[in-house]
Amino acid sequence: MSLNIEQIRGLFPVLHQEVHGKPLIYFDNAATTQKPQAVLDALTNYYKLDNSNIHRGAHALADRATRYYEETRESVRDFIGAGESAEIIFTKGTTESINLVAQTFGRRFIGKDDEIIISTLEHHSNIVPWQMLCEEKGAILRVIPINDAGEILFDEFEKLISPKTKLVSIVHASNALGTINPVKKIIDAAHKVGAKVLLDGAQSTSHLMIDVRELDCDFLAFSAHKIYGPTGLGVLYGRREILESMPPFLGGGEMIKEVTFEKTTYNDIPFKFEAGTPNIADVIAFKASLDFVNSLGKAEIKRHEDALLAYSEELTRDIKGFIPVGTAQDKVSVLSFNINGMHPFDVGQMLDANGIAVRTGHHCTQPLMKRFGIEGTVRASFSVYNTKYEVEKLAEGIAKIARFKNK
Ligand code: PMP
Repeated sequence: MSLNIEQIRGLFPVLHQEVHGKPLIYFDNAATTQKPQAVLDALTNYYKLDNSNIHRGAHALADRATRYYEETRESVRDFIGAGESAEIIFTKGTTESINLVAQTFGRRFIGKDDEIIISTLEHHSNIVPWQMLCEEKGAILRVIPINDAGEILFDEFEKLISPKTKLVSIVHASNALGTINPVKKIIDAAHKVGAKVLLDGAQSTSHLMIDVRELDCDFLAFSAHKIYGPTGLGVLYGRREILESMPPFLGGGEMIKEVTFEKTTYNDIPFKFEAGTPNIADVIAFKASLDFVNSLGKAEIKRHEDALLAYSEELTRDIKGFIPVGTAQDKVSVLSFNINGMHPFDVGQMLDANGIAVRTGHHCTQPLMKRFGIEGTVRASFSVYNTKYEVEKLAEGIAKIARFKNK
């Protein structure tokens, strides 16, 4: 069954507007996806009908809010194939999820001369927390190199990995280039030397089928706002025994069992890692995002997005002055490119004048841009509500801009 894209577009109010007098074409989905009406309704319904604090209330509203909040946790568990909902921790986003692991698992289990492996493809949020930890602990950060297509060199990874490796923290799908990493192979190799593996799933969870038990990863970090959900909300999945062995991240309400001035005992997972009043409204609304994805089916979504990517590549391939950046075999729906002789920002501005929203710059991957010897790229990233017609408009826009500079 193929998707009815017009019907899907009807669910997203934001898409139906003009920008600079042109119909909006939203191709900045890797930065954040738009939200379907059901998510907006869930947010307002919570505030209109159920607003109250969770877990401790002795009244109907608190019970209801708690139930909805925990139902989302169960939906997330199901979405990523985790064994139990206690392994799902709500955070502010991928960034906080990774920092949580660095500050708790990292500080407890990574010491002097231990090694952490990341890749050249990483987002800054999967670089900086490890640099901070290495600085504090005297640990060493190793980086897997990539080829010119933007694919990691697995042979080089095999050379880097050793009994000194305590953690491999790797992006599942690159936000800047779209490259999908061979994470199963990486996880298996890491486990052979006793290292744990964290997957940065910020760009993969919305596009790829993910089963954390099948992958056998130890941690998975991702953000709700890239899966048609609210901003300011993320998830950290962690294997039960590892989460239990980690000290808490933030101290405060909710994360305790008992507090005296002499000593505090901590709550069970996941509450041990959810100090303070959480982002209740957004957690509750996130269930509507996951329901939306499940109702379409990830395989169908991916098929549609892959077709848009292939079409965009076909239409731009022969444009004089068009320089694709990242040509991996296995990609999520990201078209990253430059136009000969032009700054990416200027290209972005010219596309914006045609109502086409793309992202330009280093995409929080400065070391990756350095590897390609460029300052940045223009990135068009496709989602389930995008159409072939929109891709044609993008290609027309690119051709017009390229002609201007590459006569
Ligand atoms: N990793 C990757 C691959 C990303 O694309 C992003 C978001 N651009 C992040 C991490 C950080 O996510 P957030 O800003 O939602 O914390």
